[in-house]
Amino acid sequence: MQLDRYGQMKPTGPKTWLRGRDEEFARICPFSPVAPDEDKLAAEYFSHAKNRDSFLGRYEAAFVGHVEEGGFRSSGSSGGMVTWVAAELLRLGLVDGVAHVKASDDPQSEGRLFHYSLSRNLQDLQAGAKSRYYPVELSGVLQLIREAPGRYAVVGIPCFIKAVRLACADDPILKERIAFTLGLFCGHMKSARMAESFAWQMGQDIGKVKRLDYRKKAHDRPANWYRAELTLENGETCAQDWWHLVDGDWGAGFFQNSACNFCDDIVAETADIAFGDAWKEPYSSDGRGTNVVIIRSTALLDVIDAGIAEKRIVLSHVDSDFVVATQASGFRQRREGLAFRLTWPRMGMRPRKRVHAGSHGLSRQRMAVYIMRNWISFWSHRVFLIADLLHSPRLYILWARTALACYHGIAYSRGPIGRIAQRLGLAGSEGRA
Ligand SMILES: Cc1cc2nc3c(=O)[nH]c(=O)nc-3n(C[C@H](O)[C@H](O)[C@H](O)COP(=O)(O)OP(=O)(O)OC[C@H]3O[C@@H](n4cnc5c(N)ncnc54)[C@H](O)[C@@H]3O)c2cc1C
Repeated sequence: MQLDRYGQMKPTGPKTWLRGRDEEFARICPFSPVAPDEDKLAAEYFSHAKNRDSFLGRYEAAFVGHVEEGGFRSSGSSGGMVTWVAAELLRLGLVDGVAHVKASDDPQSEGRLFHYSLSRNLQDLQAGAKSRYYPVELSGVLQLIREAPGRYAVVGIPCFIKAVRLACADDPILKERIAFTLGLFCGHMKSARMAESFAWQMGQDIGKVKRLDYRKKAHDRPANWYRAELTLENGETCAQDWWHLVDGDWGAGFFQNSACNFCDDIVAETADIAFGDAWKEPYSSDGRGTNVVIIRSTALLDVIDAGIAEKRIVLSHVDSDFVVATQASGFRQRREGLAFRLTWPRMGMRPRKRVHAGSHGLSRQRMAVYIMRNWISFWSHRVFLIADLLHSPRLYILWARTALACYHGIAYSRGPIGRIAQRLGLAGSEGRA
């Protein structure tokens, strides 16, 4: 996997290997039409799960809540549950190491801000807390796992966990050593250019950025008011709310990886446990952060139950409707949106999805939202590249501001574009992303 000119991770290799239906690549790529889908993998791993749901997949139990113990919650992006569960696995001796994403020590020489790394103690694990909306790849840590006997946990977004499952099917050593998979819910992955754009808009050169915190926490502000903070090499920091950045509206799709257009798994259906943000009131307004957690492994349910009994974590049972409501716009984009996108003419390989192509019952406004989002993600990569080559951040920012106004007009009937879109029947009163 290598970063392409748009700052997205792309597989590289001989054409025969990339295109061959029987090659290793076709067996382990999570978007491969010949690899088993999430339903098949979940049936293999969680055949006895108590619950089955078309949105959440197979699962034992679902919860909402946060970590009470120590500083997990304040140093996590959400309720701190991912780092707490990973730390419990280490503490209980259930794993020897955890593969997760950490900040690069020297981003300028490494050429990237974040990378996968193995943590073998609590200190290293906690240093890697927080969400990184940044392209990363697994090959290095999988190689470390192959080389060093032991038991491991892997943290990843849904397509990464699926890739790990597929790699395990192909490699008995990985299968034996990867004891737990911890999934992160995922709306979509961003390219590395998103970080560069944030730096541009804060008047900084990405070449001087040492650290990026995508979600700087403030207890007195709603959790969904994301604030990005840059730390420069000279130690200075600068921060800005995502809402004030031209590409900071997550729903508009700026810098979205193109593969995400063909994903139908939001909640890491193949992971032993999966974590997201509780995007539902009163939790979204609580700046301390709150998780939703879906548990599929009975061993991990025991770990969670013990944590609740010892009052180290505070979790309440929720049903599938609750979890789905916390990810409503993500599910719209990955189900009805995906069905609609599958009707579009397409060059190259046809993805095989659990969602069938169709646009029945979709209003013109919903179709316009999906087309606009697709258009923004496609062009954001390209306009940014041109602006970068011309050393003209202004060009990109002007384009992005216009694109955002169009998106807001269609999705929320906002501004003059909203009024025009309403007259054309392209904007509704629903106000949904
Ligand atoms: C690209 C992306 C998109 C997301 N989209 C959504 C969404 O639409 N809805 C939603 O509810 N939640 C989403 N999440 C998950 C959310 O941001 C939080 O990660 C999750 O709620 C866990 O919070 P926490 O406080 O429990 O985790 P923390 O305790 O902060 O720990 C986070 C753990 O995840 C690891 N990690 C961070 N980034 C990555 C990465 N890119 N790949 C693999 N491991 C990583 C860290 O190293 C750390 O171990 C997304 C996460 C990512 C990375």
